[in-house]
Amino acid sequence: MPLTTSDAATAAVWCDRCGDAVTAGSHGACAAARVLEPPRFCAYCRRRMKVQVLPAGWAAVCVEHGETRG
Ligand SMILES: [Zn+2]
Ligand SMILES: [Zn+2]
Repeated sequence: MPLTTSDAATAAVWCDRCGDAVTAGSHGACAAARVLEPPRFCAYCRRRMKVQVLPAGWAAVCVEHGETRG
């Protein structure tokens, strides 16, 4: 993993599936589910993402942080 800056705004602090803090316990079940499912929350700001299912996967959009595809 590359070194990142100390800019807190770019650090993922929220679980993108359950919306809890990533530091709050284990998110093993979330990680397992996320292999198959699109994210529900933005990992950076905890906003609910607008999820679109595509023929080849999905696209999740945060109004603040833009699109994530999988
Ligand atoms: Zn979680
Ligand atoms: Zn966001």
